[in-house]
Amino acid sequence: MSQTDVKAPSPVATFGATEASAVATRLRTTFASGRTRPVQWRQEQLEGLLRLLSEHEDELVAALGADLGRAPFEAWAADLRATGREVEDQLRHLASWMAPEKRRVPLLFRPGRAEVVNEPLGVVLVIAPWNYPVQLLLAPMAAALAAGNAVLAKPSEVAPMTSAALAKLLPLYLDPNAVVVVEGGVAETTALLEQRWDHVFYTGNGTVGRIVATAAAAHLTPVTLELGGKSPVIIARDANLKLAASRVAFSKFLNAGQTCVATDHVWVHRDVEQQFLDAIAAEVAKRYGKDPRTSKDFGRIVNTGHARRISRLLDGNGYEVALGGQVDVEARYVAPTVLRAVSRDAAVMGQEIFGPVLPVLVFDDLAEVTDAINAGDKPLALYLFTGSDETVDRVVAETSSGGICVNDAITHLLVSSLPFGGVGESGYGSYHGRAGFDTFSHRKAIYRRPSWLIDPPLLNAPYPSWKQKLVRRLF
Ligand code: NAD
Repeated sequence: MSQTDVKAPSPVATFGATEASAVATRLRTTFASGRTRPVQWRQEQLEGLLRLLSEHEDELVAALGADLGRAPFEAWAADLRATGREVEDQLRHLASWMAPEKRRVPLLFRPGRAEVVNEPLGVVLVIAPWNYPVQLLLAPMAAALAAGNAVLAKPSEVAPMTSAALAKLLPLYLDPNAVVVVEGGVAETTALLEQRWDHVFYTGNGTVGRIVATAAAAHLTPVTLELGGKSPVIIARDANLKLAASRVAFSKFLNAGQTCVATDHVWVHRDVEQQFLDAIAAEVAKRYGKDPRTSKDFGRIVNTGHARRISRLLDGNGYEVALGGQVDVEARYVAPTVLRAVSRDAAVMGQEIFGPVLPVLVFDDLAEVTDAINAGDKPLALYLFTGSDETVDRVVAETSSGGICVNDAITHLLVSSLPFGGVGESGYGSYHGRAGFDTFSHRKAIYRRPSWLIDPPLLNAPYPSWKQKLVRRLF
């Protein structure tokens, strides 16, 4: 079973083609009225999102706890606060991002003025997954609203409590004529995808990503695909191992490993393997105690289907268990697990793990690792622990990934000045900060010339040699 085979049942389909067409038409009418364009409207929507996050913190944290067994602090930090930071960034820069940008005009085309104006795309569809169900719905929505669009938001049915809370709350804080939430699963999303949107922003697995891109292609609608993959960590011989173990533990066991940019597996230099294994075991004990099952701070797998999928990856072949290994499918519990002596054809290396299981592979020469990374799909994130700038430069130059984070993991996506997105199998397009505003804007080129000009004859026939010579110098 692949990572994409596990789905919660869809709710009864009460939302079909007729309803999808009606809601799209309603949003299109709102957009056509121009109400979403003024800066003040955009600010009000962003401020509304911030108020929603602060006034309903407890309710959203409880919903995340019910859906994902998330510790309240983790729910607040990784979903609510991460979203809040992104919205604040959009608010802070909105006016400057909306301002027209001047461009240089070549001599031959002067006098004249060239500028780029950011124009909203229109009505956009945002489809979110379940693993960070607040952040991954609201952060793209914030960028779309900042750019002046109307939005159809589709939360994930796999996190039903959070989906229901957002569907109830969003209309109370945002312009209900311009933002509509449709809950549901495959049937509802399929009906929505048959409509013409001006952009589709999808976060989730690559199998559905292909369905989304195919549906959007029928309308020539641009798409952003925020997908996943196996994000590796490289731990060089000169790495600060305590730091590496602490940050790998954070990135792997946060949300029980159900993070798109979680460390998927580790490549550690052979000379420091044992030290790293000892250090990560100490980190797990420090965070979750002797029995992580009893820790309030360790999450659960989203549903039994995903827990079963992870248990099948632990089929006993091609690895040794260095830590953990216990799985209780019915309780949706997978212990923080570290595997060593992992073979490259072990089941756990065959797909994105998306759970708290960490395979550790060893290397002698960095080229082995860069070759292995380049032989696979381009990852969403690549992490590197080293004290050497030369090693960093080499890995940056010799590999391709959505992003790289050096001596840390996951936190690069909280740096709003950096675009966040994948490449190849990990997706295309990006958002966060300015990149999000740009994703949901059309950068319209405008070239203005004065009306009093006498049409210069230089480009018009006939083309005597003096004209050709002059134009060759100016053009
Ligand atoms: P999911 O099951 O919630 O699906 C995502 C969305 O797609 C949902 O809204 C769902 O209703 C819809 N959907 C599902 N099947 C569909 C179909 N057949 N047709 C139309 N729509 C459909 O989430 P998931 O895919 O399990 O999410 C996990 C994956 O997402 C992992 O691979 C993870 O790495 C990736 N991910 C990526 C990012 C990122 O920012 N790049 C963030 C989070 C998760």
